[in-house]
Amino acid sequence: MSSDKRAILYIVATPIGNYADFSPRAREVLAGADVIAAEDTRHSARLLQHMGISTPCVAYHEHNERTMCDKLVGQLLAGTSVALISDAGTPMISDPGYHLVRAAQEAGIPVSAIPGPSALVTALSVSGLPSDRFIFEGFLPSKSGTRRNRLQELAAETRTLIFYESPHRILDSLTDMATIFGAEREGVIARELTKTYETVRRAPLGELQQWVAADHEQQLGEIVVLIHGAPNRPVQEIDPESARILAILNAELPLKQAASLTAEITGLKKNALYKYGLGVGEKDE
Ligand code: SAM
Repeated sequence: MSSDKRAILYIVATPIGNYADFSPRAREVLAGADVIAAEDTRHSARLLQHMGISTPCVAYHEHNERTMCDKLVGQLLAGTSVALISDAGTPMISDPGYHLVRAAQEAGIPVSAIPGPSALVTALSVSGLPSDRFIFEGFLPSKSGTRRNRLQELAAETRTLIFYESPHRILDSLTDMATIFGAEREGVIARELTKTYETVRRAPLGELQQWVAADHEQQLGEIVVLIHGAPNRPVQEIDPESARILAILNAELPLKQAASLTAEITGLKKNALYKYGLGVGEKDE
């Protein structure tokens, strides 16, 4: 324990596959910290050993997050500097850490990021899809019904969509994506980024689905799926009174129901009101 130095919680990104992507600053911080909190200590031991870092490690994962939070904040308050890492990439991005950052901030402990790789940004940068506006959805639900519902909710999303996917679900997910977004919608599979078998392919979703189904290699490793956003819909114009009624109803009800009731009240077409509602949603984002 080093009581003479100001304790800091460092959030340290590590490579997503290629050790050469480990930054000199990440190395310096991990070597200099009193404790490394790692998602899987055995997994991280390989990287740390490779980098010649002998800082003691404690486990910090989704199953002990709450209890370890209190413990680590107590240590930070006592002057121990802690560096948080995950198995790969940036902690917090589909990985634990959020509770610890929040608890540290609430205890007045400085939190400092040592930035580095993350699969989502790496994949977006080589996808060839619009990158000015995007949304990251993390992992889709594993149950097919829930997954389809989630995809349905995203079908009109105009920003580039980014998903993490596990190799054993990639085919089912692509099949659902092609059905719900349409086989012609452009998608990208970014697999094994920064590693020996790095593969990036952009094609219509139907084609991607068939390619992955036919080539088992494409169902292995770590995968990011990106999908082109839906085309922008022109905002339908309706009279101000109907727009007001729709807005009031839509504050309480799903758009479909609100449009249907507004149609009954105003005599306007349900479809036109629905399209108008979608357009307003997009303008408000
Ligand atoms: N924190 C990590 C990050 O910053 O990207 C992500 C952790 S999440 C538990 C693991 C998922 O990230 C994998 O299932 C995969 O979808 C994606 N991923 C991680 N490394 C990858 C790589 N080298 N190539 C493609 N996808 C990767």
